[in-house]
Formats: sequence, C-alpha cells, structure tokens
Amino acid sequence: MKTRSSRLADMVQSDIRRMTRECDRVGGINLGQGVCDLPTPDPVRDGAIAAIRARRSLYSYPEGVPELREAIAAKLASKNGIEADPAREVAVTVGATGAFAACLHGLLDPGDGLLVFEPYYGYHVNAAILAGVEPHYCPLAPPDFPVDEAAVRAALRPNTRAIVVCTPSNPSGKMWTRAELETIARVAEDCDLLVITDEIYEDITYDDREHVSPATVAGLRDRTVTIMGLSKTFSITGWRLGYAVAREELLAPITLACDLLTVCAPTPLQHGVAAGFGLPESFYTELRAEYAYKRRVLCDALDAAGMRPIRPQGAYYVLADVGEWGYATAREAAMHLLETAGVAAVPGSAFYRGADGERLLRFCYAAERPRIEEAARRIESFGSAGA
Ligand code: PLP
Repeated sequence: MKTRSSRLADMVQSDIRRMTRECDRVGGINLGQGVCDLPTPDPVRDGAIAAIRARRSLYSYPEGVPELREAIAAKLASKNGIEADPAREVAVTVGATGAFAACLHGLLDPGDGLLVFEPYYGYHVNAAILAGVEPHYCPLAPPDFPVDEAAVRAALRPNTRAIVVCTPSNPSGKMWTRAELETIARVAEDCDLLVITDEIYEDITYDDREHVSPATVAGLRDRTVTIMGLSKTFSITGWRLGYAVAREELLAPITLACDLLTVCAPTPLQHGVAAGFGLPESFYTELRAEYAYKRRVLCDALDAAGMRPIRPQGAYYVLADVGEWGYATAREAAMHLLETAGVAAVPGSAFYRGADGERLLRFCYAAERPRIEEAARRIESFGSAGA
C-alpha cells in the first residue's frame, strides 16, 4: 500500500520544527520557531470569550463574518491605502497560511510556476509543491537584498503565472520599497502575472520605515491578491486567522477554495478579533518599540559574539552570518550553538536551495523580554568562548 502522496515524496519535516524538538530535548531557549508569546490585547481576548459565551459558534460564511470583513475593509482604507468592498473583495481565512493555500488552489493549475524570492519562507515553496505548482526562484543578495529587474525577468519560466512578494520578509526582514514594487508591476504587466503578497508582518517595522502594500502601487491592484494576518499583530498565532483581499473575479475562486479546504475560519475568534481593529495607534507604537528593543538586544549580542547580524528592516527575525567559523553546514552550526549555549536558531539552509544558506542562522526574537535577554547573554558568552 502506498503510504505517502507523490507530491510529498521529497518533503521532510522542516528544520524549524526539528530545531524546536531538539531545543525541547536540551531544555534550551527557542529562538527558532516564529511563535510570539506576547500577551493578546485584552479586547481581542475578551471579545472571543464573550462570543463563545454568547454561543456564536456556528459555521460562518466561507468568506467570514460580515462585521469582521467590514472592520478589515476600514483598516485597509485608512492604513494601507487599499479600497476594498467588504462584501465582495475581502475573505477571512484560516491564517495567512490558509489564504495562501486557497490562492494556489483557487487561481493556479498543477504545472503552473510560482516565482519566489530567495531567501524564501519555506511554506510558500512547500505549499506550492503540495498544490502541484512549480516554484521558481529569484535570488536576492544580502545584506540589503535589492531587487533587480533583469534578474526578475531572467528567473521567469514559460509557465510562471504568479510572483510572491513577502514584505516585510521572513527570514530577511527586507521591506520592499515603492521603486522595487514598481519593478514588479512592470514585469507583472508585461508577462501578465498574478502577484500574491504576504504582509503578515506589516505592523512590525523599524526606524520609521513605511510599509508599502504592493496593491497600492500603480497597475498592481487588479492583479494582486493581498494576504495579511492577525497572528503576529495580536500575538494569536494559534487562533488561525488571516485574510485575503482581491478584486471580485480573483476573490471568488479563493473563497470557494477556502470553503472546500476549511469551510470557514473559527467563528467565535473572528468575532473576538474584530475588537482588535479598534485598538488605538498607541498599541502599534508600543508593539514596534517592544520589537525594536528586542532587535537591538539580540543584534548587539550577535555582533559581540562575532556572528554578523543582518539587521532587519521589519518582522522579528534576524539572519546572522557565521560563515567565518568554518562549520561544514548551517545545521552543524545551529546544533553546536544549541548544545553549547542552549539557544536554538534555524539553519539558513531552510530558506535557500543551495550553499548560500549554509553560512547563515536565523534567530527569532518574538519571545518575552527576559528570554531574549538571557539568550543574548548566552550568545555573547558562546562568542567569547571562541564559538
Ligand atoms: N507568512 C509568513 C511570512 C510567516 O512568517 C508566517 C509565520 O511564521 C506565516 C505567514 C503564518 O501566518 P498565519 O499564522 O497567519 O498562518
């Protein structure tokens, strides 16, 4: 009997999950997996509890509860500069992950190609493979990861149908500039491509850098599916809520795919999270300040340890270059750091196809302050002991 689908044949458990298990084994501090354990804002938590008490627990429409879609549309208009009709152009999904999967299944066919920028978020690649879609790659070079139009065009294949833009990016923290998005707009227009965004880290940005939603760039609104999430902004990774925004002709098949894959996103949590859209601007300012503090503490420790951090512009990950330490692989470097200092990071190879990732480790600083501070102390002593 065949016990695994051919689509999964070459897939193994990601290094991210593996490092979590290894970290649990040694009782280390896990800066590997991107879980954020900050407290959920009270109105969001209380809204969900109230919805459960009020038995608002039935299936919702596949596109989500109307009040939440209206709150999302208002936020898109005021914060992102995207005008979207909440009735026909916004769908609530099971996380940004569910939105991305529904996009692949709703808009692409097996055998189509999807362009991702390397370093990439592994889920984008693996979800594509699971949907029978072929990943194509455009490498971006550290430390700034600039986008070059000729390189983007060269990375396209005859079957490429869509481009993924993840901004702020996991793992690099790169935030795409308007000029870079205009490059994508030109290429997408010339080659008639769909653009799928992943903007789940839109609220975690540094140094007053502005998040630009690709759909607001000239020519992109009609060919873009904007994917955003609530996991990171409200620290509710386990609630599984995100949303997709696109013109009606694109959103209808995405919603149908959502229905077939998951029926709907968790209903009481949809009601609860709507309250989050009323949080004052100070909530976002404090969120950014908190992550800026953790970025500084961790990057300073990596610097002191000689690990050469690539300071992120957004999101809550930092890639550090350990290439000069002479480990054969990034996995070996990560295991040595874990066994010696009790700090788990993800080998850079999880975000690259080839050797470029073998010099890098990715650290996530979404944990609470004392854990980040303790991890920073351990990393510094690891460095001063000669790694
Ligand atoms: N997109 C990116 C770039 C991520 O880094 C993550 C989580 O780490 C997700 C999506 C997952 O989002 P969600 O929890 O909304 O499915």
